[in-house]
Amino acid sequence: MNLILMGLPGAGKGTQAEQIVDKFGYPHISTGDMFRAAIKGGTPLGKKAKSFIDQGALVPDEVTIGIVNERLSESDTDKGFLLDGFPRTVEQAEALDQMMSEKGKKIDAVLYIRVDPEKLLTRLTGRRICSECGATYHLTFNPPAKEGVCDKCGGALNQRADDNEATVHERLQVNMSQQQPLLDFYEAKGSLKTINGDQQITDVFQEVSEILGVLTK
Ligand code: ADP
Ligand code: ADP
Ligand code: ZN
Repeated sequence: MNLILMGLPGAGKGTQAEQIVDKFGYPHISTGDMFRAAIKGGTPLGKKAKSFIDQGALVPDEVTIGIVNERLSESDTDKGFLLDGFPRTVEQAEALDQMMSEKGKKIDAVLYIRVDPEKLLTRLTGRRICSECGATYHLTFNPPAKEGVCDKCGGALNQRADDNEATVHERLQVNMSQQQPLLDFYEAKGSLKTINGDQQITDVFQEVSEILGVLTK
């Protein structure tokens, strides 16, 4: 199935994506991760993206649409994929529809993980990411067995530079206004599936699985 994950920063997209990947095997395509990897690797894409990301601005549509189109042309996406962080604008959503029809595919579902915005600050400031494998943890809600060490690979856990209280408010504000037109866009198409993200991680995944189970039948 071809899926899109939506939700505000901290809603649990990355956490649910890890479980969807484990259970269903779809590649997880996160534009934020792709940009961060490109910046780390000093590639031309990274150089283009860095100044926008550092300002908290969106990378221009033509750059973002281009990398997604390239990624969706790789054969590991043939049986399905999971988009996370894309589309972020209605222009990107329309470009994605265009890409899908050119490839003879369609988006099967848009999974919207809904959480009360007031709860997201503690989720984001307590988030820790494995520097080796990218797995997501939380200091209180999802701690690793050994402090500071990834359960999966033993890598060191780090905090993302933009997960501090000062920038979180701004990111939530910006994301809320950007997200609404996209929710409206997919609601109008009948593909939006709203999931209660304000429950235990395993219970959120249960809801996700039910939706995917129903849709795969
Ligand atoms: P956040 O948690 O801030 O939403 P992401 O990891 O999704 O973080 O994205 C990090 C940054 O990468 C964004 O602030 C933006 O600059 C850029 N970015 C990611 N996805 C897109 C996109 N679809 N369009 C434009 N810019 C994007
Ligand atoms: P997103 O990718 O949407 O920004 P993450 O998956 O990175 O969100 O989750 C943000 C933080 O909240 C992480 O530290 C994660 O461990 C934690 N988290 C995710 N889902 C839940 C949940 N259902 N309840 C409590 N904490 C959660
Ligand atoms: Zn790890």
